[in-house]
Amino acid sequence: MAEEDPNGNEYEAAARSTAPRWGPQHVGALQLARLYSPAVKEAAAIFLALPWLLSETLAVTAALRLSGKRLQEWVCVILCLVLFIINFTFLLLHFSTVHICQIVLGIAVKEAVATILAPPWLPSETLAVTTPLQLSVLGMLTADFASGMVHWGADTWGSVDIPVIGKAFIRPFREHHIDPTAITRHDFVETNGDNCMIPILPLAHMAYKFLTYTSEALAASYLWDCYVLALALFVTWTNQIHKWSHSYFGLPRWVTLLQDWHVVLPRKHHRIHHVSPHETYYCITTGWCNYPLDQLGFWRHMERLIERVTGQKPRSDDLAWAKKTD
Ligand SMILES: [Zn+2]
Ligand SMILES: [Zn+2]
Repeated sequence: MAEEDPNGNEYEAAARSTAPRWGPQHVGALQLARLYSPAVKEAAAIFLALPWLLSETLAVTAALRLSGKRLQEWVCVILCLVLFIINFTFLLLHFSTVHICQIVLGIAVKEAVATILAPPWLPSETLAVTTPLQLSVLGMLTADFASGMVHWGADTWGSVDIPVIGKAFIRPFREHHIDPTAITRHDFVETNGDNCMIPILPLAHMAYKFLTYTSEALAASYLWDCYVLALALFVTWTNQIHKWSHSYFGLPRWVTLLQDWHVVLPRKHHRIHHVSPHETYYCITTGWCNYPLDQLGFWRHMERLIERVTGQKPRSDDLAWAKKTD
């Protein structure tokens, strides 16, 4: 495997070639990187011209800190973190066998869920513990499937030229295929800022419920809240988990253990997606859905359906960026 290709994008003859084809020096990667957040670059340029700033690094850092995008990312990260702590604490405080038994025995819909998810021979105390856990696992599974849908959609359709979403949303996916390690050079806020925005409203609503609802009403929605919290947690961490799956040096031991246990996306597992033409294993949160979706031919069925309706060819824009030489 070529040194500049630690994620194994290439194989056979391409992998034996000494000419670098993937990475930050790729023509397409350079052009895509230039399209990133011009407002940030303008702000940096203004600050670089100010004589009282001592060093270039200091100027760029100050400009980045002041840019609107960076500020928005910081606000989302902090808000999201606070809401997670509040809701998780409330969920722990409201966790009691009585509540769960009420749910399992008293409410028809929840009873049906419990029957599907938990075998009837389990004692109610075990059920009280296992059912919230199972609902949390279901939340993780949903987050993984959602990550696959978004990733597949952005990889397969549309182009960087589409107004607004092209540069903001599709550009990073195109860049990621031709320069997979660029993600490892993003700091925590840049990596997670956008995803932290997604769960803010549902988490704020959950916190409001914990502060205003009666304990009976909270007991009735306890399992749903476990599901929503796990879903929100894994949606928020998707980019971080994806970044870890591309990091081959300096990962904390607890992260590599979570990868080895397949609680989060393992590195070897994600490499399957990064073999050109990047047409499988789109799920990047836990990766649990990848094998079954692949076996079902899920993505190919979806692509055939969309191609029939719209006439668009899947991955045409992605392929054009990969082949760019000037
Ligand atoms: Zn991809
Ligand atoms: Zn990747």
